[in-house]
Amino acid sequence: MPNLPVRLLRRPWTAAVAALALALSLFAVVPASGSGMASGCRVDYTLNAWSGGYTAEVRITNTGEALSGWRLAWTYGGDQHVTSAWNATVTQTGHSVTAVNTAWNGALPGGGAVGFGLQGTGQSVDSVPTDFTLNGVSCGGDGTSPPTTPPTTPPPTTPPSAECGDAAVCEDFEDQAGPTPSGNWRFTAPDCQGTGTAAVDTAVAHSGTRSLRLDGRAGYCNHAFVAATADLSSIGPVMHVRMWVRHTTALPAAHVTFVSMPDSSQGGRALRIGGQNGALQWNRESDDATLPAQSPVGVGLSRPLPTDTWQCLRFAVDTSAPGLDTWLDDEQVPGLHADGVPTQDVDAQWLSRTTPPRPTALRLGWESYGTGDDTLWFDDVVVGSSPVGC
Ligand code: CA
Repeated sequence: MPNLPVRLLRRPWTAAVAALALALSLFAVVPASGSGMASGCRVDYTLNAWSGGYTAEVRITNTGEALSGWRLAWTYGGDQHVTSAWNATVTQTGHSVTAVNTAWNGALPGGGAVGFGLQGTGQSVDSVPTDFTLNGVSCGGDGTSPPTTPPTTPPPTTPPSAECGDAAVCEDFEDQAGPTPSGNWRFTAPDCQGTGTAAVDTAVAHSGTRSLRLDGRAGYCNHAFVAATADLSSIGPVMHVRMWVRHTTALPAAHVTFVSMPDSSQGGRALRIGGQNGALQWNRESDDATLPAQSPVGVGLSRPLPTDTWQCLRFAVDTSAPGLDTWLDDEQVPGLHADGVPTQDVDAQWLSRTTPPRPTALRLGWESYGTGDDTLWFDDVVVGSSPVGC
């Protein structure tokens, strides 16, 4: 076992739980046997472990020739068991784990890198795998190659929110001059308008002193949205959205929406995020499909949206294949994940429509199809072709 650097972290949200973080960096250039083709890989496996559970950020650096798809395999020495993953499809049989690229991150050029994450359970979660293989070729970490000096601090799991890059929408609402949304935003209440209202709020903000406030009322015609004026129809192939949202009233049993995106693949009807049965859900207006399925098991795989606190909501919409991922405060929500393989209670109904979505705009607000009032705030909204963290 290589000499592992160990860093102790105390999780601010659980004083009783000491989190153990280990960063392991393995580096090797391994020629592919028999082919003479240059091949190799480096794997950075950054572990955050606590009693009974863990997350890991895994970064593959391809030191060989370009790959059009990747498959990273390793073996757990203990009883670790992967329960969910993001930016990869991860399966486990016994101690053997395999992570395969998603539809949108398979291309891995020579010298390029790709990352994915996973969450798991177990009692021996603080041991780090060392026997990585990339497309069947060892990365050389099983004791035959010495590890390089790891970074003094683990790589950040997410870039700072200030780094919007070339995002089409990067909004903190600080330049909104008055109470009426203006500039890059406009109030909209398609179809009909009742008592729902929207305003720039100077009393509640995630960043600075301003945010967007929506007072939504029950009943469809009381819906109210504020739309970004940016045209999002060329964002992709994966459209990444990050927003901070704070709301007041727990998601009701009835169906509601607070993010609505006109979708040209549905003839302009909306791809929506909201809630039903008390938990977050995606909904497709054209066929009313939901993600997850609204069975007890499906709803249990989603999450409520906590009230009276700012929540970081992130999602990735693949516009080239039926793929969808959602994170709440940087934790992937398993019920809000569509991966192209129909899963009962999750995305079996959602994948009945095979045309991938093509969102063209972003609307933030409130729409209720039955009961359910809410007051919500939105702030620090980013939409682009690259992910932006919380
Ligand atoms: Ca702000």
